[in-house]
Amino acid sequence: MDDIYRAAVDAAAIFSETDLRGCITYVNQQFCSISGYSREELLGANHRILNSGLHEAEFFLGMWRALAAGKVWKGEICNRAKDGSLYWVDSTMVPLVDPATGKVRKYVSIRFDVTEKRQLLHTLQWRVGHDVLTGLPNRAYLSDLLNQALAFSRREESPLAVCMLDLDGFKAVNDGYGHAVGDLLLVEVARRLKAILRGGDAVARLSGDEFVLILRHVDCSQQLHAALQGVLRALAAPYVIREQSVLLSASIGVTLYPQDDEDADTLVRHADQAMYVAKQRGRNRYHVFDVSQEQELKATHQTVARVRRALRQGELCLYYQPKVNLRSGQVLGFEALLRWQRPGRGLVPPGEFLPLVEQTDLIVEIGEWVIEQALGRLQEWRQQGLPWSLSVNIAARHLQRGDFVERLQLLLSACPQVEPAYLDLEIVESVAIDNLQHVSRCLEACQALGVRFSLDDFGTGYSSLSYLKRLPAQTIKIDKSFVRDILHDQDDLALAGAVIGLARAFGREVIAEGLESVEHGRVLMALGCELAQGYCIARPMPAGEVVAWARDYRQPSQWYDQSVLTAAAPCT
Ligand code: C2E
Ligand code: MG
Ligand code: MG
Repeated sequence: MDDIYRAAVDAAAIFSETDLRGCITYVNQQFCSISGYSREELLGANHRILNSGLHEAEFFLGMWRALAAGKVWKGEICNRAKDGSLYWVDSTMVPLVDPATGKVRKYVSIRFDVTEKRQLLHTLQWRVGHDVLTGLPNRAYLSDLLNQALAFSRREESPLAVCMLDLDGFKAVNDGYGHAVGDLLLVEVARRLKAILRGGDAVARLSGDEFVLILRHVDCSQQLHAALQGVLRALAAPYVIREQSVLLSASIGVTLYPQDDEDADTLVRHADQAMYVAKQRGRNRYHVFDVSQEQELKATHQTVARVRRALRQGELCLYYQPKVNLRSGQVLGFEALLRWQRPGRGLVPPGEFLPLVEQTDLIVEIGEWVIEQALGRLQEWRQQGLPWSLSVNIAARHLQRGDFVERLQLLLSACPQVEPAYLDLEIVESVAIDNLQHVSRCLEACQALGVRFSLDDFGTGYSSLSYLKRLPAQTIKIDKSFVRDILHDQDDLALAGAVIGLARAFGREVIAEGLESVEHGRVLMALGCELAQGYCIARPMPAGEVVAWARDYRQPSQWYDQSVLTAAAPCT
């Protein structure tokens, strides 16, 4: 190379020349400085003297192949200096071709020191995946670790425990001793956790005082127990930080793969849920996530979501069951009973879906829809001159809403032709148990609007006299479980008689539900109950059948002539 050019290159870059065998024939001062070798040591030596061992053989093979073909090669190479330290150079290697022969004569290489850039990059990469305070993997990196661990467990069919660990009372340490002590404590906690881990296990810091442990050696519950007790014990040993003694414990939530066969995020969430249980149960302990409970919960969510859709799509409807006076045969009114016309499944009774729905606020939406439908029906009956009342069932959760009365008033005002006294709300007595004061105030407010109340399923709950006194419902419905057995069971007969007497003493109307035979009716009338509802009179029916049914209804002759005592007979 021209001396002038060489001087320029020497000033700018690390420069060397190599013969065709790879032996160094020229180096500049910068080359000597960065490699730590003298010029004498380098000249004649093979380039391999700088090999760091960091690159695969394939890497150099690729390079020599390019150069031998007369091509320029570019890349970043890590070299080892004489003192053993590593440095990175951005290299451009050029084969110099003899113009006379067209053959490669030698190789020159121009390099720039990029060690600092590399180190910075490395630090940045490390920081992206680690918590700077404790040096543990952070949330972002945890996700990778957990996915890898899970993939391994799936492949090897080996168990895996995902543990969420939260320190107990860490906030008090921060508040009491200051954040600097809190930080040092976290560093020590991380150190203890790392020390206790075995090969294949991992620990990460999620945030604040939350850590996640991934444990592999958990083939049986004894192993898991031993591992977690070990962690709890290690963390509960006293800490001495800046000459202050600090005591601390941890709560751990655990979920186990393959029993809990979910994705990484869900496993962490489940471990977190279990950790809250451990906290609630008194801290310094672990709790294992209950998979079957979660599955039940999921099933509930699915059913509730499906019923919500059913409501939106108009798949819910009301069936009507008559309430009659046994003796006179007069139809007094009907009870509206919810049905789900489920596509492909037919008519689904409320017992199959309402108990789950009643645990959620969807029951409020459904309850309001039922009231709205009922008021519409009452309006229709009124226009046809039909003087029937209509009962609707109101769930506990719905009645206990603070705005129940207000909402009911709104629904009533939307149907001004309907007299509120024709609407009867059936509530079960257990509604009142949680919140008697609110419920009795609510009943009074609704009654002030003119709406009536019945105590449904009476006798199955507490049936306490004080409830009866404080719940001003106009009607008491004797539960069908007693009515069914009054013919055979003296106790049920006595109970039915007592409820009828009680109702009378409190000035309430009484109606029997679940009347299944003519004889049931006869016995009830003898006990003093003349109002009833039951399959013997009619099964719940669609709205369209109500008018024709009422027109044709005749009570059995045994009921209007009480002097004729007949044997029990089915009424159809
Ligand atoms: P409930 O309010 O005590 O309703 C009486 C239940 O007994 C109804 O069941 C009715 O079909 C049934 N039944 C009527 N006569 C007889 C009989 O002679 N023998 C027998 N064995 N059963 C008879 P259904 O319609 O399946 O309703 C069950 C429960 O679901 C109701 O009990 C009520 O608690 C609830 N429910 C029904 N509709 C609604 C609603 O719109 N909202 C709310 N919150 N609950 C409702
Ligand atoms: Mg009812
Ligand atoms: Mg009932």
